[in-house]
Amino acid sequence: MQQTETAAPSFHEASKTTKLSRGVIRQCPACGSGKLFRRWFVMVDRCPQCDLKFEREPGHWSGALGINTIMSFGVLLITIIVSVIATYPDLPVGRLVAICLVVAICMPVFYYPLSKVQWTAIDTCMNPLRPGEVKQPWGPPPAHDDQGSKAP
Ligand SMILES: [Zn+2]
Repeated sequence: MQQTETAAPSFHEASKTTKLSRGVIRQCPACGSGKLFRRWFVMVDRCPQCDLKFEREPGHWSGALGINTIMSFGVLLITIIVSVIATYPDLPVGRLVAICLVVAICMPVFYYPLSKVQWTAIDTCMNPLRPGEVKQPWGPPPAHDDQGSKAP
């Protein structure tokens, strides 16, 4: 009987730079697949290509919430600073409040899907992919290999 045994399992886990770059453009940090959302707010549970489970542990999305909060307040702060500088000394307070309200409401909604993918990218950088967490060749093989089929 001829066995077509593969050599030592090989995989290529993406670099941290690649993972973070993929997060910026809403791609899976592990494999680069792009179809991660069914609708704007509805993310798939697992990557359709590499099978990475995006909610890697309970409470995973609190990091995405944190990123979204930081980015939203950052954009709001920049909006306030630019508006005040551009209109000083005659501040149109009513218009500035209206603009800031629009930014404060729209920015978290707009940034929501990006924050989830970016947080997953950051998380995979801090906590590398575990054996068997994704299909090969995007991550390490499962820990339980078939030891009995090795060639003598
Ligand atoms: Zn993937």
